[in-house]
Amino acid sequence: MSVPPDVSVVIPVYNEEAGLPALFERLYAALDQLGRRFEVVFVDDGSLDRSGAMLREQYQRRPDCTQVVLFNGNFGQHLAIMAGFEHARGRVIVTLDADLQNPPEEIGRLVAEMDRGFDYVGTIRQMRQDTAFRRVASRMMNGLRERITRIHMTDQGCMLRAYSRDIVDAINACREVNTFIPALAYTFAQRPTEIEVRHEERAAGESKYSLYKLIRLNFDLVTGFSIVPLQMFSLFGIGISVLSVIFVIFLAIRRLIVGPEAEGLFTLFGIAFFLIGIALFGIGLLGEYVGRIYQQVRQRPRYLVRAVLAPQDAALAPEPEAPRALHRR
Ligand code: UDP
Ligand code: MG
Repeated sequence: MSVPPDVSVVIPVYNEEAGLPALFERLYAALDQLGRRFEVVFVDDGSLDRSGAMLREQYQRRPDCTQVVLFNGNFGQHLAIMAGFEHARGRVIVTLDADLQNPPEEIGRLVAEMDRGFDYVGTIRQMRQDTAFRRVASRMMNGLRERITRIHMTDQGCMLRAYSRDIVDAINACREVNTFIPALAYTFAQRPTEIEVRHEERAAGESKYSLYKLIRLNFDLVTGFSIVPLQMFSLFGIGISVLSVIFVIFLAIRRLIVGPEAEGLFTLFGIAFFLIGIALFGIGLLGEYVGRIYQQVRQRPRYLVRAVLAPQDAALAPEPEAPRALHRR
């Protein structure tokens, strides 16, 4: 295993015990068929079920082409992928979900596209198999991101993607705490392309994203790649100020012509509540940015690795992110 593999497949795993056997079977079959040197880098994101143990077993079965990074807690899908990237040694790096929503059989098509000289292969899910709510919400966020960032993707949500060594090296040099891998990678891409891939229903288990986590993730995507929301806010503030000055002048003149009036109380309430709502949203939005700056400047380790299972020369290659014995503060 001293020669680096051609293809590295990075897979974050969080409580996926029900689906892992099927994943192992289909993934390794598909990769064996590729006829290239490959490795699979699993990152266990602090699973509470048997996933960690199952990954160890899989490592025993295929130690020549498997690495397992075990986290010391749940740090989230995107940081798990980051850790996988630090250990991946391939020329092409493919990311994949563990729940078989992205068919492993499609990896070959992504790699073929990379061979044609692209450095970033994005994907568009044909007939996406998710709930209607997820599809609609995701289309809206996709549209918003398309408008306010410089990142262009048809379907931002699909994790089955391929990146070049250079892009992954650039990502490894980043120290972002809250990030969205496909978007971060896109900022480094020089020749991106997209292909359509199949999408399946979750093979087993349930989605690890609650509505709350989805909202947090989308804030990461928007605040991490754009300050347009903040700029819109100041523009909106200017607009409201101008309008209220005009309104005050109008009322003053009206007071001179018509005399004192006390109508329109509820209109006033309506306008006041609307503006209070906007102001609260603005403070919250500011907080989203400030909170991220705070997390970033503290420079705590982004994730803690409990153990790495890897063929010896592979384990030596990457620098571990943090001292192993550190406890979470
Ligand atoms: N995942 C993870 N850490 C988390 C949440 C999810 O590593 O905190 C993994 C999960 O095991 C899966 C992938 O990220 O491999 C995508 O998660 P999921 O399928 O639940 O998301 P959805 O398809 O609902 O967007
Ligand atoms: Mg899924």
